Amino acid sequence: MPRCHISLGGNTGEVAAAFGAALGRLRNTAGCTVVAVSRFHETAPVGNEAENRFLNAAAEIETSLDPFAFLDLLQGVEGDLGRLRTVRWGPRTIDLDLLFYGNEVIESPRLVVPHPAAWYRRFVLDPLAEIAPQFVHPIKRVTVQALRERLLERPLPVALAGATTDQKTGMIANLSQTFPAGRFFDWDQAPAGSAEPALIFWLGGTPFGRLPILPRLDATAGLESPADFVMHSLHAALGM
Ligand code: ATP
Ligand code: MG
Ligand code: MG
Repeated sequence: MPRCHISLGGNTGEVAAAFGAALGRLRNTAGCTVVAVSRFHETAPVGNEAENRFLNAAAEIETSLDPFAFLDLLQGVEGDLGRLRTVRWGPRTIDLDLLFYGNEVIESPRLVVPHPAAWYRRFVLDPLAEIAPQFVHPIKRVTVQALRERLLERPLPVALAGATTDQKTGMIANLSQTFPAGRFFDWDQAPAGSAEPALIFWLGGTPFGRLPILPRLDATAGLESPADFVMHSLHAALGM
């Protein structure tokens, strides 16, 4: 049976109780076995709308449900536990995300697996590293423990790629002010053979496919502007 990893998050109401209820629902579902659960971690919120602190956890589930049926189950549990879908990144009782479904890679409108942000979010990796440190990310090809550890370097090396030199220069100035824990540079100006940074945010224009697979992420893929995407992702990557 495939092994899945999920993340649990929430920041309003009795989150720990909601986590317990969600895990209880999964335990009582035919075809699901909860194999491991991390501690519940308290983390700072990402974005402006959320005021309370977040609680995050990870769990390993063995399931005979296919990936879409498993997502249906997670979304059913979210709905039953009174998740508010009002403001993005706003207060919510519980968010259940499917991080990995074995080694499967799925890209459909409803479901992207591995979860595209799992590999650079401290609030995902910290709990996950407790229960699955040796699990190898099917796309990034390194372990969960290694993904977490590469975010601990300070200052964290972060590059911008694509767009225009002027756009990158402006963003680098802003980011350097906002995130003193990061060291920002233009990947397209870096000398050939430069060490790979922890993250390379791609801003569009140049070919994404030429960037090294491990550190690259597409800042144009989200619903928000690339600049906002970079800000939110950096908060999560730095564990702020
Ligand atoms: P993020 O994905 O950045 O953590 P979120 O969890 O707040 O954001 P949601 O509002 O919970 O986002 O979900 C938005 C949509 O994401 C859902 O409708 C769901 O179909 C889709 N989705 C795609 N891939 C996944 C996944 N791996 N796990 C959970 N939902 C997913
Ligand atoms: Mg989420
Ligand atoms: Mg979600």
